[in-house]
Amino acid sequence: MSVRAVTGPAPVHPGVGDSIESLFALQRRSAVQNRAKFTLKARLAMLSRLKTTMKRRENDIIGALYADFRKPESEVRLTELFPVYQEISHARRHLRSWLRPHRVHASLGMFGTAAEVRYQAKGVCLIISPWNYPVNLSFGPLVSALAAGNTAILKPSELTPATSAVIREIVEETFPEELVAVCEGDAAVSQALLDLPFDHIFFTGSPQVGKIVMAAAAKHLTSVTLELGGKSPTIVDSTANIEDAARKIVWGKFANNGQTCIAPDHIYVARNQARALVDALRREIGRVYGQSDSQQKNGADYCRIVNPRHFERICALIDDASARGATILEGGVRDPTQKYISPTLIGETTPQMAISREEIFGPVLPIIEFDDVSSVIETINSGPKPLAIYVFSRTREFSENIVKLTSSGGVCVNHNVVHFLHPNLPFGGVNNSGIGSAHGFYGFKAFSHERAILRDKFSVLRLLFPPYTPAVKKLINLTFRILG
Ligand code: NAD
Repeated sequence: MSVRAVTGPAPVHPGVGDSIESLFALQRRSAVQNRAKFTLKARLAMLSRLKTTMKRRENDIIGALYADFRKPESEVRLTELFPVYQEISHARRHLRSWLRPHRVHASLGMFGTAAEVRYQAKGVCLIISPWNYPVNLSFGPLVSALAAGNTAILKPSELTPATSAVIREIVEETFPEELVAVCEGDAAVSQALLDLPFDHIFFTGSPQVGKIVMAAAAKHLTSVTLELGGKSPTIVDSTANIEDAARKIVWGKFANNGQTCIAPDHIYVARNQARALVDALRREIGRVYGQSDSQQKNGADYCRIVNPRHFERICALIDDASARGATILEGGVRDPTQKYISPTLIGETTPQMAISREEIFGPVLPIIEFDDVSSVIETINSGPKPLAIYVFSRTREFSENIVKLTSSGGVCVNHNVVHFLHPNLPFGGVNNSGIGSAHGFYGFKAFSHERAILRDKFSVLRLLFPPYTPAVKKLINLTFRILG
């Protein structure tokens, strides 16, 4: 079979579409024929093989991510490799119990039957991933897909080509293509894949493209998991430990150069703490990334914006805000030749500015002061539901109130971003920020069909079958009275 990864600019030339179709047909046959062969043992072995190849190719992954957007090695280890290894270890530890059929109790009306729920593989799955954590967000879902017993086609992002090539090589070295294959390429390749009747689509990316994916899935009634983005707010209360909050926020915001779906997009801070917070954030930026502009620019721990388009987009957000009266409180230094924007704090933004409406997805952090937190809650509730909300407060009542009165994919109290790393928490958004969940059991569940299995033993339901004689009618009425 000649189908390997396919590359190509839009539009897809016919050959690419054909090769995608034959790859899909190959995987479909394999998914059906191998249903019984994807035993616990086989799945555990596949997960181990993936980890072994990834370990062997670690230096290539690190090199590729540096080539794509100068991602520091330590950040690659912490945010790209560790989450996947953790997913693998967690799945290996728990897969046996996840696969065990769950007995369910019969109701009175179901007396005489035995019933259970089994998690069964969906079949052929499509995983479309973004560029910002390309390894983590390609292999993380793949671990769940394989744990659940599926075959999978991965479509990594065209914006990180060096990393996508390593992802393809790792897959080719580890799996036969009837089990896992990679299709490299841009939106056109993605759309050629989306034309096919996959059994599940796991998409990570922007809400705009998420809508395109869902519309394409609807044509085949394919189930979807959508891991999307949006503006995740952080609220800093007047009782918050400001130094601690600043430390965590600078890490959460400027790691990966702010190009993190769950990075704090903007901060609401109690007015009496605003000055202290800005000072603490400045000190922390200096401590972590360097005191001077040149130290910051030349520091090894700060990666770059992924491409000129995103660089221009973020600059335009800053320029629009500045032109409408916002103040640069820190940073704002740029170098288009390196796609570099220094860690930037910005004050006095207004809701009319583009920066207040669009997902920033870069190293720019607006700081908005509030007097009454109910206005913050009202603002959050009037917009699309965020992927995450972060609250820094020493008052439990304050954080509980935010949790109860708002909706978001997840929440961290006195931290940010780290809920992603918790293997027992579902990770995902809600509505505009996503549909469905990833990670651990929840990822396994996303790629599984919860199959209901009922076995009749001595059920008495047959007494209610037609013909509806007076005796049967009486029995139906009696059943209604007792059980209805
Ligand atoms: P994107 O939506 O532009 O692209 C994601 C993937 O979709 C890529 O593989 C791309 O090739 C493909 N694609 C692009 N246009 C398409 C089209 N018209 N039809 C079909 N496929 C298409 O997202 P991105 O720029 O790669 O990533 C940034 C976005 O992803 C942000 O919004 C961010 O918040 C979000 N994100 C979410 C999570 C999460 O876990 N919820 C994680 C990372 C990123």
